[in-house]
Amino acid sequence: MILVSKKFVTRKTPALAIGHYCIGCDDLHFVPLKAKGDENFNYKFNLATFKKTFHFTWGDDASNQCRYMIISGTIRYFSCCMHNYAGVAMTLPDIPQHILESFDIKPKKGTSK
Ligand SMILES: [Zn+2]
Repeated sequence: MILVSKKFVTRKTPALAIGHYCIGCDDLHFVPLKAKGDENFNYKFNLATFKKTFHFTWGDDASNQCRYMIISGTIRYFSCCMHNYAGVAMTLPDIPQHILESFDIKPKKGTSK
């Protein structure tokens, strides 16, 4: 995983994806990213907008879900989220240090080719 801004990481496996920190789940959430010009993302890391709604579920219980939109750098949780941030809108948080360490995320190197 590579840190591409304070708020976003990318990964290449199993397919190219961009991820950000979800404070409700205290975890990273990823969405697929087309290599060239993905229409879902505006490529503005500080004023990020994704056209599609994010929706993640766990296990067999349909209420175990995290659903939100990211618009102009704010994350807007739907009220159906299973966590404490349901219905909350806030500035998309920076990826916190404990996540960077637990995933061993490296900053993008300016010297790489
Ligand atoms: Zn979440």
